[in-house]
Amino acid sequence: MKLLVADDSKVSRMMLLAITKGWGYDVIMAEDGEEAWQIMQEDDAPSLLLLDWEMPKMNGVEVCERVIAQSPENPAYVLLLTSRTGSDDIVEGLSKGASDYLSKPFDSAELQVRLQVGKRMIEMQDKLNATLEELTQLASHDVLTGLLNRRAIMEALPKEVKRIDRLKHDLGIGMCDIDHFKSINDTYGHLVGDEVLKEVTKRMQKVLRDYDLIGRYGGEEFLVITPVDKESCTSVYQRICQAISAKPVITGELSIPVTISCGVTCYSAEVDGQDMAKFLNRADEALYQAKDAGRNQVILKQAIDQ
Ligand code: GH3
Ligand code: MG
Ligand code: MG
Ligand code: MG
Repeated sequence: MKLLVADDSKVSRMMLLAITKGWGYDVIMAEDGEEAWQIMQEDDAPSLLLLDWEMPKMNGVEVCERVIAQSPENPAYVLLLTSRTGSDDIVEGLSKGASDYLSKPFDSAELQVRLQVGKRMIEMQDKLNATLEELTQLASHDVLTGLLNRRAIMEALPKEVKRIDRLKHDLGIGMCDIDHFKSINDTYGHLVGDEVLKEVTKRMQKVLRDYDLIGRYGGEEFLVITPVDKESCTSVYQRICQAISAKPVITGELSIPVTISCGVTCYSAEVDGQDMAKFLNRADEALYQAKDAGRNQVILKQAIDQ
C-alpha cells in the first residue's frame, strides 16, 4: 500500500523512510506540507498519510484539512505526528480530519500498529466502494443486455428534456420493438431468444452516438433517446432498422432473420411540458402504426403535424 510520509527534518525523514519501507509500504516522501499537497493532487495519490504537524509552508493539519475537503466521501487516512500533547492540540488535529495522532518521540512498534489500523480502514473503505459501485450498476442496469434498465432510462428522460430545453436543441425518442419475437422464442427456445436480444442490443449500440441513450424498456422493447434536429430525427432509427435487418443473427448453427420496428417522436415544450407520459405515449402510438404498416420500419409522429 502507498504511504505518503511528510516531515521537514531530514533525519526524521530518513528514519521514517527506512522503517516504513521495512514494513512493506510503498513510501512516497515529501519535505514539507506544500510538497505533500502537490503529491496528493496526482492521479492515484496515496490514501494513507503520515504527516508531521510542524512543517514550513504548510503544516500537517492544513494538508490534512485540504486533503479531506478534496474528497470528503472517500477520505484519506491521516496519522499526525506531533510533539504537541495538549488536549486542545489533539482536538484541533482530529477535528480538522486527521484519523489518528502519535506523539513524538514515538515508539516504532506503536507507529507500526497504528499504520496497520489505517491500512485496514483504507482496505475496508475500498471494498465498500467497490460493493457500492457494483450495487449501483445492478440497480440501474439490465443483467442480460447490460443496458440501462427501465427505471434508469425513465429517470434519464426528464433530465435529457431539461438539458436540451436549456440548450434550445431538439430531442427525439424512439420506442423500438423486435418484430415477432415471441415466434423466435417459440421456435428456438428462450435461451436462443436471449442471444438474439444480446445481438440486437450490440447492433443498436453500434449505430448510436456517444450522446444517445438506450435502455431496455420492456422484454424486447427498447427506449432510445437521441438529441437531434426535428428535421432529421428519424435517421438514427432508420440506421437501427437497417443494422438489424441487414444480416441474420447467427447463434450456434442457427441463422435467424430479425427485424425491429420503431415509433419516433420529438419533444414539444408546448404540447408535452413536463408530462413524460404524453411524450412516451406518442412514441408508443407511432410504434403501433409501424407494426400495423407491416413492421421493419420507422414511423414518425410529431406533437404538432409539420
Ligand atoms: P410484435 O412484432 O407485435 O412485437 O410481436 P412480438 O412477438 O415481438 O410481441 P409479443 O409481445 O407477443 O411477445 C414478446 C415476447 O418477448 C414474449 C416474451 O416471452 C418475450 N420476452 C420478454 N423478455 C424476454 C427475455 O428476456 N428473453 C426472452 N428470450 N424472451 C423474452
Ligand atoms: Mg517538523
Ligand atoms: Mg415485439
Ligand atoms: Mg413488445
